[in-house]
Amino acid sequence: MSAFPFVIAPSSGAAGEQSMLALRKVAAAPGIALVGTARPRPAAGEVLLRMEAAGICGTDIHIAEWTPGYESMASCLPVTLGHEAAGIVIEGPDAWLGRRAVLRPSVLCGRCEACLSGRSGSCRARRGIGIHRSGAFASEIVVPEANLVAVPEDIDAELAALTEPLTVSHEAARNAAIEPGDRVLVVGPGPIGLAAAHFARKAGARRVVVAGRRDEPRLACARAMGFADCLDTADAGLTRSLADAGLPAEHDAVIEATGVAALVPELISLLAPFGRLVIAGIHAAPAQVDLTALVRRHQRIVGSYRAPLSAWPEVLAALADDGEVLRRLVSHRLPLSRIGEGFMAMASRQAVKVMVTPDG
Ligand SMILES: [Zn+2]
Ligand SMILES: [Zn+2]
Repeated sequence: MSAFPFVIAPSSGAAGEQSMLALRKVAAAPGIALVGTARPRPAAGEVLLRMEAAGICGTDIHIAEWTPGYESMASCLPVTLGHEAAGIVIEGPDAWLGRRAVLRPSVLCGRCEACLSGRSGSCRARRGIGIHRSGAFASEIVVPEANLVAVPEDIDAELAALTEPLTVSHEAARNAAIEPGDRVLVVGPGPIGLAAAHFARKAGARRVVVAGRRDEPRLACARAMGFADCLDTADAGLTRSLADAGLPAEHDAVIEATGVAALVPELISLLAPFGRLVIAGIHAAPAQVDLTALVRRHQRIVGSYRAPLSAWPEVLAALADDGEVLRRLVSHRLPLSRIGEGFMAMASRQAVKVMVTPDG
């Protein structure tokens, strides 16, 4: 059940030894295409990687469906998708050759006011790998050397490819300002929510409740990651489901990873005084908020999105420590030639994380 056309045309584009399979966005309209395309060549300051593993992200699904918010891609098409990747450097400076790296997706301009004043996190002209320039759903990928992050040797390619989405979760948990003993509610059991639950637990939360709505495969993943308190709120709603399960009615932190704006007032009602609501979902609609209640209860609402560079080594350390828990996020493994099945599984919420590897 997918809302976007998926075209397989491996013989189109470049042919012969110089061609490779790539999953591309070719037009500013719903759809994606698996096509033959020329192998990329690195320019000055860039490196060539052999792709080892790349995850399909919710962003990739939005791009395939062509939901509003991705218009800036139109002038960059055709572009190879994929930004959650690990690979081996096969062309570049000696220090990198043969090493496994993960990619920071944001290519910064280095020229805008933010970049020049050292606040490159606020770069106005950033270009996303796998969005505005070609990414990792291909056998080879070219990226700026500055976007590489080295992977410690004890972390395999599949785990390494989880690094980028985990930095988003890590940032959400950091913004929740969790203190030992806190009660935490995570709403939305996709990969971002599940990994945020993991980082909340790691930060010392006493109890982490994971809630979803008709999300059984993802709630099963939460249980497999060791979260005992998992709720399907489809029938009774969130507040009633918590009460029926004998779980707290107030939480010190609530992490929202659903993108359902209509839920936000209820999430605030589930916050304890001085509680923090972290909004990590991408919302298609505005939310209505009772500000006076928020004021009188000293609560905070925080938006959380891209993590700073400092999060990357912390996430890689977590992958080294908790790799087998975090690997449970990978629900599907597919070769690039079958990536269309992975998009379908993600779009229908049957998958948690789909990991794509090169063919053969
Ligand atoms: Zn992503
Ligand atoms: Zn800039």
